[in-house]
Amino acid sequence: MLKKICGNTFYLPGPVNIGVYDHGDGSCTIIDTGIDKDSGRRILRALEGEGLTLVRIINTHAHADHFGGNAFLVRRSKAKVWAPPVEAAIIMYPELEPLYLYAAKPLLELQTKFLQAAPSPVDKIIEPGSRTEEGLEIVPLPGHSLGQIGVATPDGVLFPGDAFFAMDTLKKYFLPYFVDIPRARESLDRLQASKQYNYFLPSHGCLTADPREILAANLKRLQEIDHFILSALKREPKTRDGILAELVATYNLLLNPAQYHLYNSTLGAHLSGLAEEDRLEFFFSKGRMLWQLKGRV
Ligand SMILES: [Zn+2]
Repeated sequence: MLKKICGNTFYLPGPVNIGVYDHGDGSCTIIDTGIDKDSGRRILRALEGEGLTLVRIINTHAHADHFGGNAFLVRRSKAKVWAPPVEAAIIMYPELEPLYLYAAKPLLELQTKFLQAAPSPVDKIIEPGSRTEEGLEIVPLPGHSLGQIGVATPDGVLFPGDAFFAMDTLKKYFLPYFVDIPRARESLDRLQASKQYNYFLPSHGCLTADPREILAANLKRLQEIDHFILSALKREPKTRDGILAELVATYNLLLNPAQYHLYNSTLGAHLSGLAEEDRLEFFFSKGRMLWQLKGRV
């Protein structure tokens, strides 16, 4: 059942919270669609229960659990799909998600519904910073994915997608998934400084009017991981896999094919971020690519 946040803004709680904005004329926009056709069916049933006709889906980013319900909903309604640049390409060609995680034709173990959703058409590429005719604002929040956006409704409710993670998620995963650390930090700082939203509903987590503590915990975690890497490299240069092995041992991380590649991708983001900030550099030796503190002789 839909839960009202305020004004015309609602959500359907679930493993991925679905944002709903009632246009006031019996039609609505939803934000994200869950992981598969079952989530699509659940969304449609909830909208029908409220007498709402789905006319638009806005995807915050192209992770399988955020757009996997698109295909079903597009088939069963007249909904148009709007998505941000880069993410739109993955929504249309979902094999790109395991491809970029593995960096080649992916292992079968990565071609699961958790990493590769059913393909969906994209009718419009939305530019971050733009607004829909109903006043929904497309808020740029890159970092968790390259083109991640949030959607803010005229009621002052922000659906930030996965731009930040709830405390529970941070507790469960020492390495929360981010692909661009400097941009993630900027997005978190911008949200921290913003005063324009009354409510925030992250995709995985609870509705909050004051996310400052959660945002600070996300920023702190990014810093902790950077510090871990920098102190691991104080002793000697190491490969990416060597640093990952230390993270796994220190924080008791559970490995399986999906988790290994997600952790490896996040570690890669921290390494490229630290290189961009001139704190790390790499070199090749005996067939290995080694990372070291910048300026170390
Ligand atoms: Zn995500």
